Amino acid sequence: MHHSGSNSPCDDVLIIGGGIIGSSIALRLARAGLRVSVLDSAATPGQATVASAGMLAPQGEMVEPDDFFEFSRYSRDLYPSFLEEIESLTGEHLDYHREGTLLVASDENQWEELNHVVQAQTRLGLPIERLSGPELCRRVPGLAANLAGGVFVPGDHWLDSQQLARALVKAAEAAGATFRHDTSASGFNARTSRVESVAVSSPPLSTLSAGCFVLAAGSWSGALAQNLGFRLPIEPCHGQMLELEVASELPLVVRSGMHYLVPRPGRRLLAGTTSEYVGFDSSATAQGLRSILEGVMRFAPFLKQARFRTAWAGLRPDTPDHRPVLGPASWENLFLATGHFRNGILLAPATARYLADWVLQGKPSPSLAAYSPSRFAA
Ligand SMILES: Cc1cc2nc3c(=O)[nH]c(=O)nc-3n(C[C@H](O)[C@H](O)[C@H](O)COP(=O)(O)OP(=O)(O)OC[C@H]3O[C@@H](n4cnc5c(N)ncnc54)[C@H](O)[C@@H]3O)c2cc1C
Repeated sequence: MHHSGSNSPCDDVLIIGGGIIGSSIALRLARAGLRVSVLDSAATPGQATVASAGMLAPQGEMVEPDDFFEFSRYSRDLYPSFLEEIESLTGEHLDYHREGTLLVASDENQWEELNHVVQAQTRLGLPIERLSGPELCRRVPGLAANLAGGVFVPGDHWLDSQQLARALVKAAEAAGATFRHDTSASGFNARTSRVESVAVSSPPLSTLSAGCFVLAAGSWSGALAQNLGFRLPIEPCHGQMLELEVASELPLVVRSGMHYLVPRPGRRLLAGTTSEYVGFDSSATAQGLRSILEGVMRFAPFLKQARFRTAWAGLRPDTPDHRPVLGPASWENLFLATGHFRNGILLAPATARYLADWVLQGKPSPSLAAYSPSRFAA
């Protein structure tokens, strides 16, 4: 492992959680010359990460043109260089698409909602294009003939997030980070203003010390914070997904409300999703999968002939305001990076950049003020 002796207040970092958030931060910090270790309780890190669809959709996810939208757009714009960096460290080619996304309306109500989106985003100067039913079918053959209409969003992209999760761990390792799989943190040991070590419960039992700690344990971050007597309201939001195989490739991501189809290489297609608050159980259920199939077949009837491959579910780390938690904790060497809810893939490059700058410079960027955990203190 190399260490360039940077001026950071901590020269070694222990990251808890090796999903896309923990591993992106590991990559940035290892590249800056710090000694970085990542603990993950799973054999394959990235619980929500490996369950995700991989859409990078700042416009499709926009509620209003606020700071969060700017954060999302900034992160999407970091993607090309982020992926190039991973490709050059691993020698792998990553599946990444910038062809845009189609949002379709199955009925007049949805069409009215989409028209509001078009008006609002056009006023902001964002690229978005209204399409009639026949135009939709020309872009994506096989869509339902009776769709009320749709819009094309050229700035919403997608990638293969399962492939990215694996490559990112490899890239961080190539940059010098160490990953410990099957290693679960059970709590922190702290003294006055500093965290000194992490207790590891899975064998061998031990205590791991470091200069700085990053809590990036997704939906499980709240329980670890609680161990420090610190309230971090993260709740798991269960989301299910189906993988299908189709006769011909889908050229674009197609979304309608909470239902979507996301292409994967080899004529595979992911169909999602559900949004359920049912604790930490991460099984896929008959009812959840039925609701997804009914939802996507409403706009994509060609799926009746699709072959079923597999199904799964993951737990999105949600917060009371659905925004991430990236602010200072009460311990000067503990950094929080969690609560990315539905957008952790999209937000990973920007999160990693801000967090790494914070660790390296010893103070948070002003852009992070809105994501401070202190907003939940009351
Ligand atoms: C069905 C679904 C679809 C999604 N689609 C998209 C999408 O299209 N675009 C998008 O941007 N986002 C999407 N998301 C959201 C995205 O997946 C998450 O926001 C993101 O993966 C969160 O990453 P993370 O690293 O914080 O969490 P995780 O990937 O859950 O990683 C946390 C890690 O912490 C580890 N851990 C937990 N407790 C401990 C412990 N005590 N000790 C050590 N390790 C521990 C876990 O094993 C896990 O590997 C989707 C999510 C789901 C479920």
